[in-house]
Formats: sequence, C-alpha cells, structure tokens
Amino acid sequence: LQSHSAPFSPQRILQTLIVLQAFFGYIPPQAQEWLVRKTGTHIADIRSLLSFYSFLVDTPPPAFHLRFANNIIEQHAGLDELHERVQAELCGTDCIIETTSCIGLSDHPLPVLVNGFPVTRLDMNNVHDFCNLIRSKTPLECWPESWFGINNVVRHSGPLTRYQYIPGLGIKNAQGLTREQIIQQVGDAGLRGLGGAGFPTAFKWHWCEQQPEPIKYIVCNADEGEPGTFKDRFYLTKQMDRVIEGMAIAARAVGARKGYIYLRGEYLYLYQAIQQELQHAKQIGILNDLFEIELHLGAGAYICGEESALIESLQGKRGIPTSKPPYPGEKGLFGKPTVVNNVETFASVTYIFQEGSSAFHSMGTEKSKGSRLHSVSGDCEQPGLYELPQGTPLSKLLSLCGAKATQCVQVGGPSGQLLFPDQFDTTLDFEGPGHGGAIMIFDTSRSVMSITQNFSNFFRHESCGFCTPCRAGTVALTHLLERYTKLPENRQQTSKDLLELTELMNKSSHCGLGKTAGQPVASMLRWANDHDR
Ligand code: SF4
Repeated sequence: LQSHSAPFSPQRILQTLIVLQAFFGYIPPQAQEWLVRKTGTHIADIRSLLSFYSFLVDTPPPAFHLRFANNIIEQHAGLDELHERVQAELCGTDCIIETTSCIGLSDHPLPVLVNGFPVTRLDMNNVHDFCNLIRSKTPLECWPESWFGINNVVRHSGPLTRYQYIPGLGIKNAQGLTREQIIQQVGDAGLRGLGGAGFPTAFKWHWCEQQPEPIKYIVCNADEGEPGTFKDRFYLTKQMDRVIEGMAIAARAVGARKGYIYLRGEYLYLYQAIQQELQHAKQIGILNDLFEIELHLGAGAYICGEESALIESLQGKRGIPTSKPPYPGEKGLFGKPTVVNNVETFASVTYIFQEGSSAFHSMGTEKSKGSRLHSVSGDCEQPGLYELPQGTPLSKLLSLCGAKATQCVQVGGPSGQLLFPDQFDTTLDFEGPGHGGAIMIFDTSRSVMSITQNFSNFFRHESCGFCTPCRAGTVALTHLLERYTKLPENRQQTSKDLLELTELMNKSSHCGLGKTAGQPVASMLRWANDHDR
C-alpha cells in the first residue's frame, strides 16, 4: 500500500482492491470500509466488484490456491484424471483447488497456477511429489526450479519475431512525421487489429486524432483470454519493449499523453517484468513527460477482453460491455477519445516504423497484409508459436506443427469456427474465419460433441449476464446440446431448436460474446448433417 502512490478515487477502486488483496491475501471487511471512506463510494459498489471479478476474494486465503485450466485442450491432455488425483491427495489440507477457462498456457499441458505462478511440469508421474510440497507447506519460492519454466520459443519465425530491433528507432522515425503522416504510414502498411476484430488500425487512430478533445488515451489490451490463445504472452515476455514503443508512436499520432496496459490477472507473474520494461523505456527516453504508461491488472473476467468492457474495468467498474456508438475513438476511457489496440498490434506498429510500411505491406494477401503469430495447441507434435504471413493455408500450418489424422481444427478460439478436412485449404487471414490467432487441433480420437460442449460451457460460464439473449441463451444452449447427445431419436427437432437459438443469440445479444457463442454449435451441426450423425 505504501508503494501504491496514486491518489484514491472511485476510478481506482478496482486497482486498489487488487493491491489490498496482494497485501492481505484477501480483502477484509475493514479494508472495504476503509476504501469506502477513502473514495467516497458506497459499500454496495465494492461488493458488486467482488462478486463480478472471480480473482477477488473476501475470505482469508488458504496456504495454496491452485487454478487448473479446464479448456478442451487441457481436458484432452488428461485434466480430469489429474484434477481428481490432486483433489484426493490434498483433501483436508489448507488448499483451494479450482478450475478456470484458460491461463494462457495451452502449449504446456497440463499447467496450473499455484498462488498465481505457473507450474508447467505437472503430470501423473510427479503429482504425488507436487502434493507433498503443498502438504508440507513448502513456500513456492523454495520449490525446485524444475516445476516451472515457460517455453516462448517461436517454432516458425518470420520477420516480426526475428528482425533486429533497434530501441527507439521507430519512434525517432515517427518524430520526423506529422500526425497525419504517421497515421498514413500505418494505413499504407495495411495494419489491422490482431486481437480478433481485424479493424483497420489507421482508421481507429484517425478517428481519435480528429476529435477536438485535448485529453486522449492509448490503451493496450493485454487481456488475451480466449481459450487456446497465448501469443500475446510471447510479446509480453520477449518483446515488451516493442509493444511500449508502438504505444508511444500511437500516442504521438493521436496526441495522447497517457497510456494504460490492461494485463490479464492470469499473467500476474509477468507484472514485475513489465514494470521493469516501463522503467527502462523511461530511462532511454521512449516514455517521458509527454507520454507515460500505467500498468493495470485484470481480475479474472474474460469479458474484459472486449474493448468497451475493458474500458469499464479500467474505470474501476464491473466489466460490462457498453453500447456502441459512441466508439472509444470518440468517447472512450473517462469519456475521452481513446485508441484501444491489442499487444501484437502495437508490436507490429514498431516494426512498421523501424522497417518501413512497405516491408509490412509486402507480406500477406491483397486484403490481409503483414505477418502474425498463431498460438497452436492440441493434437500435434509441436504445439507452440508460429509466425506466418497472412493468407497462409491452414493445411500448411498443420503440416508445420506435425498434426496427424486431424479430424477438425478450431480456428480463432471458441468464438471462431470449427473446420473439418474439406475446409483445411482455408487461409488464415482477415477473410477467413476467426482472426484471433488461436488454432486448436483435434485428431480422430476426439469427440466433436465433447469439443462443442466444452465451448458452450465456457460461454455459459463467461457470460457477464447483462443481456437476456446471452445470459439465458448460453444456458439453453448447454441444455439443448445435452438433449441432442442423450436423445438421438429427437435429434432433428433439437438440431432445429439449436440453430434457431444460435441465430437469435447472434441477432439480439449485446456484444460479441453472445453473438458468437453459438458458432461452435452451428459448425458441429453442419458437420453432423453432412456426415449423417
Ligand atoms: Fe454480457 Fe453476453 Fe450480453 Fe455480452 S452478450 S453483454 S457477455 S450477457
């Protein structure tokens, strides 16, 4: 708390709660009352945040808190058996064992966060030793190194992951340009958002730059929460300097003096390293009095990856998506014009300003320019990170990562599409399905139905509950899917009901989560109809 020097205000409630939790291990009632007095808010506001953000707790913590990822990749890697064994061995100990959708480590199955730190070497052979460490209350810092370690090796590199970065050169090049020229250069490169939406970056920047407001903000969305996605982990770990420089270039383009990085709570273990990178950027002049960046933490709400929900969360509120328009470029953070881009997009900006827009533009296809990272997980010999030019056929990526007997591939995470072999010539670009860079591979030993059910359960769990089509629709989807599986004699009618429901959710949900929640089900039904299942 001593080092939490920023002034207390209602906008800072969430970050202050996170600091309080780091200090006490939980948020005691006295701390909640103290925060009410400090910020002038109501206790109900604090309680409402505690109920929304799953990582915030108001009861004393156990010695160990385990969070297993339970997305379909981890389930296929044997999560249920391992989870049951851990529960049985640790029964009665001072330990909480939970599951969560994704912790950004699907290339390291089976990972588990222990008190927020990733253990990546757990399997059925060493589970007893793991449980012994917990039973004996061995502090995490005394655990053998061999339990930890994240491999951020890029298995197939490309220009963006292997160019010789020269710190400060990109911003120096931008400083010689007017705002319009900077935005023009981003437009000439053909850069589009790499977080999933694929919106033209120059358009976003131009819209924000044009606003007459003197105060503007730059926000880096580092809340990649889509199951199967971990590419931003690479940039946050290995290329944070380029991300920061890209934000500084964006600030110069639109006239912003303040930026925020919103880091997902599951990446808490990267927090210190990112703070150090921010310090280093100050020392070498990339950040200065004209542009500073503050690092914020999320607290376990997937929906905060949606840009308007992220803005709400940065303002200290529950992460409920807001209606658009107005778009953030016009009225975003604290009601001011705001550019929100994803981690990989900002890293690409730095590449463009160091190497030139034509270097970026020369890669990819007519409509999808550049090169990008893909997070590859599931049934293949080499899961991990692959940089490929836009427009690369999915079949080429499957061959590069050693996928064999592939039955289907989920492109773009659960909100993307499930593709089957006759669709493997689909290209990975903004014209194809799912732009978030997550590729989950399933071989012929997997059940398409259980994949779909896992995705539907994920959406049901992550729906923020604000609008009825999504809140009720995601629950109805899981029930109908169960009926589809258990009552084959009713399949025709259930299939019709499911398709009607997914269409309704798509048309009437408030944000992208509800609109896309039915996509995996629709893909599965198309496949089932084609194969008469
Ligand atoms: Fe919330 Fe779902 Fe509605 Fe989006 S669609 S606002 S996640 S309930």
